[in-house]
Amino acid sequence: MKLIYDERFCESGYADDNAAIPGRMEAAMSRLLDGCWELVPAVPATLDQLLLAHDAAYVSQVSQDPPRFSMASLAAGGAILAATYGHGGDPAFACVRPPGHHASRGEAWGHCTFSNVALALLALRSEQKINRAFVLDIDAHTGDGTRKVLAHWPDAIVFNPFASDATEYLDLIEARLADLDRTDILAVSAGFDAYRLDVGHKLDTEDFATIGRLVRESAKRLCQGRRFAVLEGGYYLPDLGVNVAAFCRGFAG
Ligand SMILES: [Zn+2]
Repeated sequence: MKLIYDERFCESGYADDNAAIPGRMEAAMSRLLDGCWELVPAVPATLDQLLLAHDAAYVSQVSQDPPRFSMASLAAGGAILAATYGHGGDPAFACVRPPGHHASRGEAWGHCTFSNVALALLALRSEQKINRAFVLDIDAHTGDGTRKVLAHWPDAIVFNPFASDATEYLDLIEARLADLDRTDILAVSAGFDAYRLDVGHKLDTEDFATIGRLVRESAKRLCQGRRFAVLEGGYYLPDLGVNVAAFCRGFAG
């Protein structure tokens, strides 16, 4: 498995929100730096790539804030790189910020700027590598931006499971993936704020490993193992590292 990352993601001055807080990326990466997986530096998305998912006026507006623009371009590029590896048969996790699932074509909220996962899928489609895609969004919040950006693409499905407890939540994911009969790639909007000590108050560390495993098994069944994941939310820093590592363990296999 590849880990897409860049030390520039540790710079927290690009924004003043929960996703940008100092130490968050260090926490997310803290249990992934044991050499298990190959670290690959992120490269910024190009303007042409950003325009696959966003209106020119919005991209131009973001560019008026250079620190935010360069960090968000790097995050989007990291997601595209993860998708490229994932499509090539090497699963990848992009540990990036700002997150992207609340970013739509012409606006964003919830600490997001560019629609990282949607952009990555659109980049694969623009290269004629995929026709169908399935996104599992496990963040505590709905991936409204991803949905809106992909709305014109009927064969791209975004699934946000909602359940009152962890057992029901995992059952929903398992059933939805079992129902899926074809896709060219599986993507995960990997938010960790559904953790029991984070804002979602639901999942435990091992649940993230289970979700990773369910996606891995489904990718093997459906699309030659093609899969990638991109960091979204996750704000309980003391356990963010173990949760990210648990997900990656299940996801990589
Ligand atoms: Zn969230």
